Amino acid sequence: MACVFCEIAAGSAPAYFIYRSQRVIAFLDIYPVEKGHTLVTPLTHYRDLLEVPDDLLAEIIRVVKAVAAAQLRSLGASGVRVVQNNGSAAGQVVFHVHFHVIPFYTHGVSGRRALKPDEGEAISRMLAEALRVDDTKGIS
Ligand code: AMP
Ligand code: ZN
Repeated sequence: MACVFCEIAAGSAPAYFIYRSQRVIAFLDIYPVEKGHTLVTPLTHYRDLLEVPDDLLAEIIRVVKAVAAAQLRSLGASGVRVVQNNGSAAGQVVFHVHFHVIPFYTHGVSGRRALKPDEGEAISRMLAEALRVDDTKGIS
């Protein structure tokens, strides 16, 4: 299998999962912009946004929203940025469609760095627990 996100979806490559349904998964980015940076992607391989069927896209964006709420609630984030790149000209590196859900904090931006295993385990556990509570109220 050539696609790393297909491998993660199949369980043949490791990831710090925070959510899994029959069609959508969410896991931590291994090179986070900020603590809790999460990727939301379908299990099925679609190259980019334009290839994704609308009903699946609706499910993906609901998970994006729930992840954003979980980051605000459980990690103490003050804001959340959603990013979705299509095509190498736009910065897409992994050609399996995905949404970045990136929390931001009042202490300012820490800068990109490799995710440490203990951090990955702790953060993914907190987010997974927060996702079990359905609370998608807006940012105050
Ligand atoms: P994009 O530029 O939108 O294609 O972003 C791809 C993202 O995938 C980057 O932020 C990478 O850090 C992240 N990434 C690549 N490989 C993995 C992996 N095995 N597990 C988690 N995140 C990954
Ligand atoms: Zn794939």
